[in-house]
Amino acid sequence: MGIDSNKIQSLKDLLNQSANILITAHKSPDGDSVGSSLGLYHYLKVKGYNVNICHPDVAPDFLHWLIGHDEIYNLDDHKEKVTEIFANADLIFCLDYNSSSRIGQMEKLMNDATAKKVMVDHHRDPDENFCDLMFSDITSCSTSQLIYEIIAASGDENIVDPLIGTPLYAGIVTDTGSFRFSSTLPKTHLIAARLMEAGVRHWEVHEHIFDNNSLDRIRLVSYAMLNKLVILPEYKAAHISLGAKELESFNATKGDTEGLVNQALGIEGVKMAVFFKEDDGIVKISFRSKGAVPVSEMAKNHFNGGGHLNASGGKFVGKIEDAIDKFVTILPRFVDENKACFDD
Ligand code: 5GP
Ligand code: MN
Repeated sequence: MGIDSNKIQSLKDLLNQSANILITAHKSPDGDSVGSSLGLYHYLKVKGYNVNICHPDVAPDFLHWLIGHDEIYNLDDHKEKVTEIFANADLIFCLDYNSSSRIGQMEKLMNDATAKKVMVDHHRDPDENFCDLMFSDITSCSTSQLIYEIIAASGDENIVDPLIGTPLYAGIVTDTGSFRFSSTLPKTHLIAARLMEAGVRHWEVHEHIFDNNSLDRIRLVSYAMLNKLVILPEYKAAHISLGAKELESFNATKGDTEGLVNQALGIEGVKMAVFFKEDDGIVKISFRSKGAVPVSEMAKNHFNGGGHLNASGGKFVGKIEDAIDKFVTILPRFVDENKACFDD
């Protein structure tokens, strides 16, 4: 799907009517939400707009090197400033989320804001009533790719430089698992090539994101794989769980469990992997799958979440053991209902 030129015109009209622009992204920011936010931020600044970024909470350490990260206001640490920015905004970009329920405590500020809203997102089932203008494309590998396409469709491909391009490249790399998920399209590689031509140093992006582990993190991941991985061969499923005490004993910081669920999915014969993590008094759950196994359905129907077919998230209020029990209880029926996908 390309970018609709009528929508580009509507976006230009909205931008021209706006003195104060605000960029937002979902709770627990990831590479794509930070990358798309910063790519759009630097682009709009070059275009002469007054623009701020507000996120519900701070991103994991492995994203802090991106230029402009220290200019992002997160609600957890800057409540007054964020409240003021929301109240003064004329236009709000909602990046990498499809409903106001994905922005945690920022939801109230969003609902109270008088600004027009523009969604740029690639998650399934977007809330059609949330934004005034929607660039929602579930075939897109990342919101960062959509931001690049919007910039190009606006006639500004030539102003993309390393400042704008590096965060977009980082967002594409993280959301495609380094160009390997099925969401990676030929145009994803073409856009990556354009970003390299614009001066993005791709190896630096990879080094910052993947080759910067703390020793604590490597030990946490090793502990989880050795002691906390459970394989359910009859269901081609695997799960890993980490409680608050375990995380604390390895001094875990936000991004330390990133990718753990993919390691479980990487095991031969496993079609579906789940990771349970105690976080802020609730259990956060990550689902990943191979082929056509629709983990988004399980996240949506049973764990108050959603996401993409092969990568989804949800939550459970209660003990981590009870969350695992619930998963193990509903698994046989889920496998049965999606037999063809599991047999693939
Ligand atoms: P992760 O497992 O990395 O937290 O999330 C995987 C995917 O599922 C991401 O694309 C994320 O946006 C989505 N996701 C994670 N948590 C939730 C949630 O609570 N609700 C919904 N609708 N999507 C989620
Ligand atoms: Mn994304």
